[in-house]
Amino acid sequence: MSPLSQPSESERAPVNWAVTAVLALTFLTAITVVPWYGFVYGFNAWSWAFFGFFLVLNGISIGSGYHRLWSHRTYDAHPALKWLLAVMGGMSLQNSIIVWSARHRVHHRDVDSNEKDPYSIGRGFWFAHIGWMLKDYQSGVVDYSVVRDLQNDPVAAWQDRWYWSLVLVTNVALPVFLGWLTGDIIGMFLLAGIARLVISHHVTFFINSLAHMWGNQPYTDENSARDQHFLALITYGEGYHNYHHKFQSDYRCGVRWWHLDINKWFISMCALFGLAKNRKRAPRFKVLRARLNMEFKAARRKLEQTGVSAGWKEQLESEYTQYIETIKQWQQLQMERVQQGKQKLAERFEIETALLATRYRELEFSLKMQRKRLALITAQVF
Ligand SMILES: [Zn+2]
Ligand SMILES: [Zn+2]
Repeated sequence: MSPLSQPSESERAPVNWAVTAVLALTFLTAITVVPWYGFVYGFNAWSWAFFGFFLVLNGISIGSGYHRLWSHRTYDAHPALKWLLAVMGGMSLQNSIIVWSARHRVHHRDVDSNEKDPYSIGRGFWFAHIGWMLKDYQSGVVDYSVVRDLQNDPVAAWQDRWYWSLVLVTNVALPVFLGWLTGDIIGMFLLAGIARLVISHHVTFFINSLAHMWGNQPYTDENSARDQHFLALITYGEGYHNYHHKFQSDYRCGVRWWHLDINKWFISMCALFGLAKNRKRAPRFKVLRARLNMEFKAARRKLEQTGVSAGWKEQLESEYTQYIETIKQWQQLQMERVQQGKQKLAERFEIETALLATRYRELEFSLKMQRKRLALITAQVF
């Protein structure tokens, strides 16, 4: 039996006073001194401007950098972009890229395991949000064996080595310097330094807490991750967490073009300027398959709850058989593609590739149509 499943063991974990003090002091300052200073002296436009600028840049550096670039390697970045993301990500005070990614990779591998997932939602909202950092839990011990690739990444290794200097320079020296330049050192430090840091912290923490509790599960119910539009808006797209846990190698979290995924748009914009390349996407067919699978499950649940006509049940089952058949055809096509890859030098290669692409599109179309039919059938009955 694991020691962590016993509450007394959790209580015995020693408090991490340094982290607790920093998180508590910055939070208390943000809700007391910052508003007081604002009412009494007011903040100038420069302080507000840098507050907003750093807040967005921190969020993007964590989402597009720490998360999608380093933790999941969903695209390749130009060194210039890596440096920017490493420096501004360090400013977010969420540990170094290497430590953050190590915990995050374990979070994906052992999601919802109270013994292994560093911020398992199974241990409650408070634990997943912030509690996991306040004590030195066994589940929080960094497993460096899962980040060997990042230890060999010069930018990530540099950031890890100089992490605390980077934190102090960006969080203290930079705001003080900017405040000195623009005429209000304290105002700039309080707004662009402290308030920005606290908001940036809790917005990211919501991904570990709220995004595992609040929202829909359109792609998988194998774990607690949820998709939530509002959360996506305030987390620069990270709130499409259900999709992300299903397709973690995809550079997008919001897969539809209209999904509010600012990190996806940021990475795409970088790609336009040659700063990002090899963006990975989950095959459209697999995404559709995941959605349909969840929709069949929902239809079956309704069927069990309401006890409708046998005809409807038959219709549903025939759709399901067709769905399984389409998946088989797709798997067959995948095998054919692998075969063709081996015969790259064959004369007819290009014609064959075009043919394969058409067949892929046909199968995707077939699933799309099936989703529509399923929606119609379900609507008729309920
Ligand atoms: Zn992730
Ligand atoms: Zn998660």
